[in-house]
Amino acid sequence: MWRELAPIGRHTGSGGYRRYAWTPADADCRAWFRAQAEDRGLAYETDRNGNQWAWLGDPAAGDAVVTGSHLDSVPDGGAFDGPLGVVSSFAALDELRARGARPRRPLAVVNFVDEEGARFGLACVGSRLTAGQLTAQDARALVDADGVSLAHAMEKAGQDPDAIGADPERLARVGAFVELHVEQGRALDLLDRPVGVASAIWPHGRWRFDFRGEANHAGTTRIEDRRDPMLTYATTVLAARKKARLAGALATFGKVAVEPNGVNAIASQVRGWLDSRAADEGTLAEVVTAIEQAARERGARDGVEVSVVRESFTPVVEFAHELRDTLAALLGAGAPVPVLPTGAGHDAGILSAAVPTAMLFVRNPSGVSHSPAESAAEDDCLAGVSALADVLEGLACR
Ligand SMILES: [Zn+2]
Repeated sequence: MWRELAPIGRHTGSGGYRRYAWTPADADCRAWFRAQAEDRGLAYETDRNGNQWAWLGDPAAGDAVVTGSHLDSVPDGGAFDGPLGVVSSFAALDELRARGARPRRPLAVVNFVDEEGARFGLACVGSRLTAGQLTAQDARALVDADGVSLAHAMEKAGQDPDAIGADPERLARVGAFVELHVEQGRALDLLDRPVGVASAIWPHGRWRFDFRGEANHAGTTRIEDRRDPMLTYATTVLAARKKARLAGALATFGKVAVEPNGVNAIASQVRGWLDSRAADEGTLAEVVTAIEQAARERGARDGVEVSVVRESFTPVVEFAHELRDTLAALLGAGAPVPVLPTGAGHDAGILSAAVPTAMLFVRNPSGVSHSPAESAAEDDCLAGVSALADVLEGLACR
């Protein structure tokens, strides 16, 4: 399976993947998924939002155990983010058959469409639509960088955009969803363990900081006379790192816009975007407030006006405790399995509002993700398959 997927959507220059929703590369991934389902005699279907499902057993029976992930990528993404979960799901079903396990509950593998949001700018479109967290109207109106709407792109790919929308009947058939994913961090590597169970997805948000000073000549304006917003911005970046480190949180200024952006001009305005995440919403609020306070204090000294606008916020996702504990018990026969939080969003996070949801993570030695350098050792991937098979067997076959 891995060898078949490897060349699809791979950019020869960067070595990274460019598998964007409803493009030819995506269509090739989807054809691969369908072939994997049919080769195994699984009942294949595409739902109203374009998510792909492969069923073992009768979906109408309800209380299904569903596993899977996504096959699309970020620009120049790695091979593992998404596909590892889908490939491991099919491999885990194969493992169940090899063990002679007999499912009492229906089992399914799912490929959620457009998880990364690389093309239309919104992540988890397939799962959001299904869970009713994105309206059909808003989804159809999303446009890519070339001005092509999601509706048009779906139509071109043979999927009816008029049919999209919430799918409560489908979700009502799902008793549990388990997503296996490559870890996007080094927690498992630091613990020297191949597989872990997710506890929660950290709350996160984006804030826009505007620093307004006064444009002037870099060569003639005395230091004492300057109102330089770059200084305030620079101090704020350092403060963000310090406040986050002290609180055990994360804070990143990764995007900045400078006006007039001239080499020999003191800037009139610097606009920086803060991405911050923490284990709980209280800590996150404290960190951002502390960064904002540091910005205002420094701004007052620099003669720079500071304003802060929250542009987005996603609350904490606590995975279903009972399911999480069941997974930990199923996998903890030898030694307790690590239970870890993550700072990254997933379809599992979207679905968790509607169905009991859990995640398994597979060790990523470098911790690098969303890059061609993303990696996982074959032994660890096989440990992931075995863990997922244990989970599916424990949930569906006993
Ligand atoms: Zn992913």
